[in-house]
Amino acid sequence: MYQTDVDLAACNTLALPGRAAAYVRVTAADMLAEVEANPRWLGQRRFILGGGSNLVLCGDFAGLLLHMAIPGRRLVGEDDEAWYVEAGAGENWHAFVLWTLARGWPGLENLALIPGTVGAAPVQNIGAYGLEVGELVARVRAWDFRRNAYVDYSREACRFAYRHSVFKEEGRHLDGSLAIVALTLRLPKRWQANCRYADVAQELTARGITQPVASDVAAAVIAVRQRKLPDPAVLPNAGSFFHNPIVSAAQAAELQQRYPDVPIYPQPDGRVKLAAGWLIEAAGWKGKALGPVGMYQKQALVLVNHGGASGEDVRRSMAAVQAAVRTKFAVELTPEPVFL
Ligand code: NAP
Repeated sequence: MYQTDVDLAACNTLALPGRAAAYVRVTAADMLAEVEANPRWLGQRRFILGGGSNLVLCGDFAGLLLHMAIPGRRLVGEDDEAWYVEAGAGENWHAFVLWTLARGWPGLENLALIPGTVGAAPVQNIGAYGLEVGELVARVRAWDFRRNAYVDYSREACRFAYRHSVFKEEGRHLDGSLAIVALTLRLPKRWQANCRYADVAQELTARGITQPVASDVAAAVIAVRQRKLPDPAVLPNAGSFFHNPIVSAAQAAELQQRYPDVPIYPQPDGRVKLAAGWLIEAAGWKGKALGPVGMYQKQALVLVNHGGASGEDVRRSMAAVQAAVRTKFAVELTPEPVFL
């Protein structure tokens, strides 16, 4: 079950170099109890890896890396209001989305083509085009290494927020003490297309679709993403590299005075969301690189590895982008990926 000195370059979509001292490909939830029972790994640092699409590998990892590959997806319930669908943590997210749509269960179409695994989706509450996965989560099942038991989290217990959840809050995803093994979603039968993001609406209009069904929305999302985002197999990247900053209404108003074009999105709590990609582009970083790492020429929010980069190269470019945005706008950008 254990492998030692494993090359991780193919396990992270930024293609950064690094090796794991020990590695287990976890294909069944019960394997996690066995890991804990092995005295050799007692007290060792652990890291839970999904698709590696939200990871900056900063060299070798001296501990035990658990690569979550638990398969399976099934309908676990249905009532008048919704379908309940469960998937193993290791399932590919996009394949899972397509599978639900093919079965006639709409709801996940706006989240099509997001890289990564099902198990990673609730950790950062993945979101795109006006939908966050947390809105549809019924239950998250995790193995708790501290208690040596499975724990079920209801949607409320997950404490979902913008690209955030309890799994990040308690640091337990990062310290490897909790491994998500399965996700159950509630897909309401009463469905309405969510096309409020301009890109999706424009794509549907261009296709002559006025009454879209879920598969139309998915096709539009896929087309937009393929146009704007680099394929990690061709140009290694980790998707959006920075969170969209949320600032006070006063700061947003001041920015708008200085930069009338700045896009702003008022939030329910009175604060204002800014588009990190816009700030990066306006700070001169779209298509710019420092050594082998830069910001993508078609979408300034995506940090790309042009070849041969290390985790240190990523840190250097990240710091340069943050400094440029800080200097021009007095706004702090925080990275989305996990640093290992
Ligand atoms: P975009 O459509 O060019 O818009 C730029 C930013 O403005 C987005 O980040 C989005 O915030 C915000 N925005 C746009 N229209 C909005 C609206 N109607 N209401 C509220 N906020 C709005 O963005 P993009 O970069 O091409 O990405 C499209 C979507 O895919 C976004 O939702 C983005 O978050 C998501 N995405 C996520 C990742 C990732 O790795 N996390 C990677 C690629 C794309 P939000 O980000 O809050 O939606």
